[in-house]
Amino acid sequence: MEVSRGKGRFSRPIATMFSKILIANRGEIAVRVMRTAREMKIETVAVYSDCDRAALHVRLADQARGLGASPSVESYLNMDRILQAAEVSGAEAIHPGYGFLAENAEFARRCQDRGICFIGPPPRAMELMGEKTAARRLAAQAGVPVVPGTGPQLGDGAQAERAARDIGFPILVKAAAGGGGKGMRLVTSPDRLASALRDASSEARSAFGDPSVYLEKYLQSPRHIEFQVLADSRGNTVHLGERECSIQRRHQKVIEECPSPVMTEGLRDSMGQAAVSMAQACGYRNAGTVEFLVDSQQNFYFLEMNTRLQVEHPVTEMVTGLDLVRKQIQIAAGQPLGLSQEEVSWRGAALECRIYAEDPEKGFLPSPGLIRSLRQPSGPGVREDSGIYQGWEVPVYYDPMLSKLVTWAETRSEAISRMDRALGEYRISGIKTTIPFFRTILAHPKFLSAELSTDFIEKFYRPDQPSPGREELREVAAIGAALYAGHARASDAGRTAPRESPWKLWGRWNELRR
Ligand code: ADP
Repeated sequence: MEVSRGKGRFSRPIATMFSKILIANRGEIAVRVMRTAREMKIETVAVYSDCDRAALHVRLADQARGLGASPSVESYLNMDRILQAAEVSGAEAIHPGYGFLAENAEFARRCQDRGICFIGPPPRAMELMGEKTAARRLAAQAGVPVVPGTGPQLGDGAQAERAARDIGFPILVKAAAGGGGKGMRLVTSPDRLASALRDASSEARSAFGDPSVYLEKYLQSPRHIEFQVLADSRGNTVHLGERECSIQRRHQKVIEECPSPVMTEGLRDSMGQAAVSMAQACGYRNAGTVEFLVDSQQNFYFLEMNTRLQVEHPVTEMVTGLDLVRKQIQIAAGQPLGLSQEEVSWRGAALECRIYAEDPEKGFLPSPGLIRSLRQPSGPGVREDSGIYQGWEVPVYYDPMLSKLVTWAETRSEAISRMDRALGEYRISGIKTTIPFFRTILAHPKFLSAELSTDFIEKFYRPDQPSPGREELREVAAIGAALYAGHARASDAGRTAPRESPWKLWGRWNELRR
């Protein structure tokens, strides 16, 4: 949003700021965006589906508009209703968060057509990066290394098999329009290729409406390291360093950290430069992330570019001291980045755990339902981005992520201890969460020594491993027994009270059994 003020000194367009934005999302990310908007004195408009009527993001917004029924297609994916909500409320811009319409070029175009600013990249850049084989081509042209692989034209079965043999097994069949690990199949031998192509293609068709798949060399136990970039509309592009996201479950990140424990200044420079080249090659503006796989020799390969704010952006914020949402809004409003590459600096270490409403003891089965009680951690170096509160019912319709717990400290090991402390303070009842799972991972010697890879969980996590959380369960039992014994003694003999104050025990008991 730029206006020109007269001639001479003021003839360059100068940027103005939005007075109201609509957040086309829900949950923690809607709350996250609202917080920055409020700090910038920008009014916020929430949108909600039927089951989200009482959600935290609705409660925190200045205004809220209903979209319709709970399924996403009727609400958070319904472009007409969201655009209408923006127009009726007088919002000048839309922040899409992540997921839903965040990487939908058609939505960004429709915003533009209606004179509403889309807080994100230009639609063309989204299209270029949204099709993974086009993005790989562009990376190769920009001199950025890519994982060996094919384009989307695989021809008949025999041609696909030849291509796979040329690359060398194991290979990965991937959806060209991919995301969220959907349409991805690992193939270890030629006889499995045809069925993997069929399965991946039909999964891609139902998830993305596009059945195209391609082949990629499967790298053994790589690290996933991604770079945050920021680009303004005046040709400035910088990177804000990396995030290590190698702790994944089913190819989806669950713990992220910054900096990567294997990062060196030289590697950061070359990967950062590659990320900036990718952004420039696709005419990028706003915040984006360039993802790489890194092998044990520290060779890096472009994986894809995510054209939105990432779930894991807080770890970069904690270490750089920058507010990425503020930067996004400023860039969308036409303001300059106000930051050169030399001015970006990193301090300390940050870690993020994505807490899901899932039961780790039952194969991570979703566990939606009423949050009967909740006590969220805080204290030094702890940040929690959440979209929940006590008494809120986690709906079945959407991604079951409840919150992102982030810790910062001077060193990685202090950030880990702080995370374990914060996870230990977290109390949530009524639903199962992945908190005990994280405590098990954080305590693992290989995690502590930063021997990370994308197959870490597959290799090292056993659901029956004792987690620090389980010790507390034993404590519950012990306190329960002590209470009972004390009570029995007191009432049987009518005289001896338990040595521990019953009130103290009662408090601990209630706390722990939640
Ligand atoms: P999506 O967009 O579906 O999330 P990505 O291409 O971003 O898929 O990959 C997600 C994860 O899958 C990576 O972080 C990595 O763990 C794994 N992966 C993807 N491609 C490869 C590969 N060629 N070799 C090994 N692992 C891979």
